[in-house]
Amino acid sequence: MMTFLRRLIPRPRNAQGERALDCVAVGKTLQRYLDGAATAETAALIEAHLEDCLRCGLEADTYRRIKAALASHRVPPPSDSLERLRDFGLELARSHGTKPGSG
Ligand SMILES: [Zn+2]
Repeated sequence: MMTFLRRLIPRPRNAQGERALDCVAVGKTLQRYLDGAATAETAALIEAHLEDCLRCGLEADTYRRIKAALASHRVPPPSDSLERLRDFGLELARSHGTKPGSG
């Protein structure tokens, strides 16, 4: 049953030898690394992987942004609420423009 699924999931290439980390190992230690809590050796391995692997690189980038946002205590408002505000403004303008009972 599962064999066809396994074929869909690409295996990580290990061309650089045993020392190269795979995505799972990086994911486990990524937060430590970004917090500066990983050892120098681990940090070097993770850095090498992040340059190689787009997915883990993006994840690291996202985590860095979250950390930066938390550090500055400024979280950008979701675009959704901005749209709702604009709709609310349009609704107000419309209700003020029309005069009920005139005719
Ligand atoms: Zn990866």
